[in-house]
Amino acid sequence: MSGRLQTSEGIEIARKALDLMAEKCVAPTPQNYALFTHFTADSNAEMCAEMRGALDAGGPLEPAFLEDLYDRHFTFKRIQDAVLEVGGAMSRELGAVVKSLEDAERDTAAYGQVLAGASGELGTTTDSASMKRMIEGLVSATARMQRRSRDLEKRLMETHQEVNLLKTNLEKVREESMTDALTGVANRKRFDESMRAARREADMKSTPMTLIMCDIDHFKRFNDTWGHQTGDQIIRFVAACLARFSKDYHLVARYGGEEFAIVMPRTGMDEARTLAEKVRATVESKRLLRKSTNEDLGNITISLGVSQYREGESIEALIERCDTNLYKTKQTGRNRWTGDGDAAEGAVAA
Ligand code: GH3
Ligand code: MG
Ligand code: MG
Repeated sequence: MSGRLQTSEGIEIARKALDLMAEKCVAPTPQNYALFTHFTADSNAEMCAEMRGALDAGGPLEPAFLEDLYDRHFTFKRIQDAVLEVGGAMSRELGAVVKSLEDAERDTAAYGQVLAGASGELGTTTDSASMKRMIEGLVSATARMQRRSRDLEKRLMETHQEVNLLKTNLEKVREESMTDALTGVANRKRFDESMRAARREADMKSTPMTLIMCDIDHFKRFNDTWGHQTGDQIIRFVAACLARFSKDYHLVARYGGEEFAIVMPRTGMDEARTLAEKVRATVESKRLLRKSTNEDLGNITISLGVSQYREGESIEALIERCDTNLYKTKQTGRNRWTGDGDAAEGAVAA
């Protein structure tokens, strides 16, 4: 598509994309712009089909839907490409090493033949001139071998460094694929992984494990009043509050658009409730300023659900229970938390 964008056809594609974004009230973020230009250029069949379906449905295009679409078709693809690139570089490097080893093997065999020839001649040579020639031959063959071993050693050292660099790159790509780009906390994929690990640990060591789920209150209203970009700023702020009170063995994740979770292995219900309350109170207490203009945005609140893992239950059952607690919190006034078996506790005079 990038080639086409330099032509008048490209300008037409970009114009149509912008028109469509304006018509659908889509925030003009770089990600949305990428989605819509690819859509109007019809350059990504699967993404276009999903977008077409959403447009045909006629409803508003939710930011969470667009974000997910972008993640799946662009971020994930970029990460896949990066993995393929690292894999390709690794395989080229190893190919070069194998070739060096084969060359070395051939030289070793040739050296062996020179030695064997010399040893045969030793028994028959009587004159000093032939002896001198033979020794010179041996000296030069030995020097060649030494050079070859030095080259091989250097080559192996370079390969070692190159492979280490590729390993680091691969770890970076893996880290990126597990991190939420907006907030820097874990993404849904790492959340799923961490839940499985925490459940395993709880089963094996009989230690408690708890889960907190959290959703920003009346966030649609906030977005409508202050715009999507300022909304994003709030999402980052809530993520930072959750991370601030979590222990290093807890995992804070962005579960969905403006929903978060904390996976807490080795943590019982009392500690989880205390943490939920600390985060709730901190979020509520901060007066927020709009970054671009310093306007006072007032404050926001969050609602939370807290649940403890019951031995043998599925991860889905635990999430559902916690989500039900969060729902109860919303039903009973928001800006509070609900634990298993509680009516909405952590209640505050809202
Ligand atoms: P409630 O108190 O019941 O949770 O009300 P709410 O308005 O927060 O309702 P809900 O949780 O369903 O709304 C989620 C809204 O969050 C919808 C969507 O516009 C917004 N949102 C989701 N993801 C993002 C995002 O990445 N950035 C921004 N700015 N907004 C988002
Ligand atoms: Mg929500
Ligand atoms: Mg909400």
